Amino acid sequence: MSKYGKEILIGVIPVVIAFLAFIGLNVVPVLFMSVIVAALFLMNRARTGAGMGATADRKAKSRTPSYLTFDDIGGQDRAKHELKEALDFLIKHEEIKKLGIRPLKGILLEGPPGTGKTLMAKAAAHYTNSVFVSASGSEFVEMYVGVGASRVRDLFKDARSRAQKEGKDSAIVFIDEIDVIGGKRAGGQHREYDQTLNQLLTEMDGIHTAETPRILIMAATNRKEMLDSALLRPGRFDRHITVDLPDRKGRMHILNIHAKNKPLAEEVLLDRVADETFQFSGAQLESVMNEAAIYALRDGLEIIGQKHLSLAVDKVMLGEKSDRESTREEKERVAYHELGHAIAAELLNPGSVSQVALSPRGQALGYVRHNPQKEQYLYTKEYIESKIMVALGGAVAEEMFYGGRSTGSRNDFEQAINMVKTMMDAGLTRLGIIDREMTTKEELMKENAAIMEDLTRRTRELLERHRTVFIQSLDILMGEETLSGDQFRHMLQEQTGLLHESA
Ligand code: ATP
Repeated sequence: MSKYGKEILIGVIPVVIAFLAFIGLNVVPVLFMSVIVAALFLMNRARTGAGMGATADRKAKSRTPSYLTFDDIGGQDRAKHELKEALDFLIKHEEIKKLGIRPLKGILLEGPPGTGKTLMAKAAAHYTNSVFVSASGSEFVEMYVGVGASRVRDLFKDARSRAQKEGKDSAIVFIDEIDVIGGKRAGGQHREYDQTLNQLLTEMDGIHTAETPRILIMAATNRKEMLDSALLRPGRFDRHITVDLPDRKGRMHILNIHAKNKPLAEEVLLDRVADETFQFSGAQLESVMNEAAIYALRDGLEIIGQKHLSLAVDKVMLGEKSDRESTREEKERVAYHELGHAIAAELLNPGSVSQVALSPRGQALGYVRHNPQKEQYLYTKEYIESKIMVALGGAVAEEMFYGGRSTGSRNDFEQAINMVKTMMDAGLTRLGIIDREMTTKEELMKENAAIMEDLTRRTRELLERHRTVFIQSLDILMGEETLSGDQFRHMLQEQTGLLHESA
């Protein structure tokens, strides 16, 4: 209405003035008044317009910024440093050109899921004042040949046109899960993958320093060894940055970042959470903070306590408590199985058990919670063997009390086998230092079986000596569903004392 009203007014006023002049009236005062009114109107509009702009600006500033900086990424100090160094190529392009250095075209971020690779790419775009365009490898895979390739073309076109529109000199194209399109081109692979990869290589080869916007491609993968060598050769993705699981200091930093918008009780010690979350990724740590807030909400509280954080760590590590009801026999078997793990763990690494629980969580029907471990990156043969024995403890306990195993040991065996593989690759077995290509499957299988047999025997010998602890602990576990580490240690020490006395 107001829009049309204004137009009608603009049309009517000159007609009225012309009519008044035509019938002989003096229109000068009317004209004078109109000019003053129009001037006042324009001045007022300019003022309120500026005011509105300022409010909008203030609003925008008070909102969370849509960009992400390196300060928003916890830990990863080395990766951030390496990345910034590489990004300086994009920022100081003139100096680089003078020295005749070829432009940096691709940076590959490699590391486990949820460690912040996407965050790094976004922060890189902010750091270099570039446009950020992203896609995931799986988005390029289509049933129809050629679609993937044309999507790659569109992605680069989009990056260039957005940079021009936004007046930026550079653009970062981020491709997550690059292994989906950039996997090794062994014979017989799908043609579609080839065309998509070829298009990506063509786009990379077409990047020149002279042209603006300058394009930098960043890609992320969890499986670098799967990538085609054509992608990794100089001039393509020749900068590789490892984005690893955070260490204790990194975990602390990430927890603090995600605690910023959360009301924590004064008693909360994030240090303790950092200790308990050994080998958690950034995404898992974010989830711990979020789940803790949900637990506080469930308790009808407005602040998050240490208890909520502890529950959240369990949930992220083992899954939500489930209400699966199992029979008494099944529960008893699970109790023996978990006690097998716990007794082996405590005997081989005293003080390591924090709780044995019979409540089902995620896929597990029971679990042993371990005390925080010291950060460690080198493992001796003895250490790995003791870990394998703890993993085998569950199955061995079932054999001791039921004469056979159940399907409950599947994950334990998987873990044990992976650890044996690590031992083999590190030259810690009787096979000596091996190259898997030069070793036959039979040799590997034979050694694996020998190690497993030996460690199963040693675990059985260890557990057999503590049968009474199993029986005493079983009663408590069946009645209360949990057994604290201290309770359990006390029984174990009593029995060990008796053993020493009788020896
Ligand atoms: P994927 O390999 O599965 O794609 P990614 O390594 O790209 O994972 P991101 O997508 O960057 O992981 O991280 C997922 C979420 O986890 C982030 O949105 C953030 O909340 C949290 N996160 C991960 N790493 C960090 C970190 N270092 N600092 C702060 N938050 C992090």
